[in-house]
Amino acid sequence: MKAVIVNPKKQGVEVKDVDIKEPLGKRQVRVKSIFTGICGTDRGIVNAKITFTYPPNGYNFLILGHEELGIVEEVGEDVTTLKKGDYVVPVVRRGCGVCLNCKIGRQDFCETGNFVEAGIRGKHGFMREEFVDDELWLVKVPDELKEIAVLTEPLSNVVKAIDELLFVQRRMVWTCEDSTFECRNAFVVGSGPIGTFFSLILTTLGFNVYIINKRDPSPIEEYIAKRLGAEFINSKTETEEKLPNADLIVDTSGVPSAFIPLMNKMKPNSALILFGTVEGEKYEITSDLITAIVEKNIIVMGSVNASKKDFQGALNYLSIWRSRYLDILEKMITSKVPVDKAPEVLISKPKGEIKTVIQW
Ligand SMILES: [Zn+2]
Repeated sequence: MKAVIVNPKKQGVEVKDVDIKEPLGKRQVRVKSIFTGICGTDRGIVNAKITFTYPPNGYNFLILGHEELGIVEEVGEDVTTLKKGDYVVPVVRRGCGVCLNCKIGRQDFCETGNFVEAGIRGKHGFMREEFVDDELWLVKVPDELKEIAVLTEPLSNVVKAIDELLFVQRRMVWTCEDSTFECRNAFVVGSGPIGTFFSLILTTLGFNVYIINKRDPSPIEEYIAKRLGAEFINSKTETEEKLPNADLIVDTSGVPSAFIPLMNKMKPNSALILFGTVEGEKYEITSDLITAIVEKNIIVMGSVNASKKDFQGALNYLSIWRSRYLDILEKMITSKVPVDKAPEVLISKPKGEIKTVIQW
């Protein structure tokens, strides 16, 4: 079968015929790939910038891909929730089997760190013609979402982060006098797919959203901001006076110099969500900033990965947005490429990309 593979110790990526025997277990499902999304993690692996990646036991290569949409081809005899022809999205992280969180399906909060992640560490990913997976870790996709459901995995991580935020912010009353979030201002730093998902969810929840980047918006970004009623701010050229004070800052860039200067806008009881990661930048944190965080009860929260319920939550959002913002979702998938072109788009990002997907 055709697969997109990497050697985790070396830079580079290739499309190869691989021979992987996957007998179908009683509670397992054979899935044929339809779309596989490409993200920054995939490119980090391909360009050997991500160091925690490793192949499954017994292999000297790793099949890439963790943003998948597939269709059920065959089910094991004890499978009860899926049938041939169902659309599915697989969960990425699989638990350590030891810690309590992993035992209850919350491997996104694994405490031992001994989890595996499909296409990232210790488990083959989904950039291949077909794969066998446990019924337990396949999320059923409503048929009408099949054109956009490849966005489920990246969105699931955002759904989890927002869920955590709303949980943590129950430490006091955070809603407005009319019980909504319409008096709350959110800065979303970064306008890639994750930033766009945060902007979409926060808009849907009623927040006033400011999308912040160090450059002018692309035509698609401008369109999306306008459709959401959000403001796109170029932090290099537009003065800080354009920004109100913030109840929430979400950083999707991982670049300290992109979001730390904005922290002087944070209101009492506000929250900072850290979602992006990059390498290399050094940035000084002053004791004045620490004092502000303390004196204003500011929450700083990192968030990674998602559980199966967050995948379901992502599909629920896609259902809402299919009627409200289908134009945005369709514009987010900026290109669909055949698998033979995968190496090209994995090595370097196509111009104007929000989300590139491989079409099988
Ligand atoms: Zn665990």
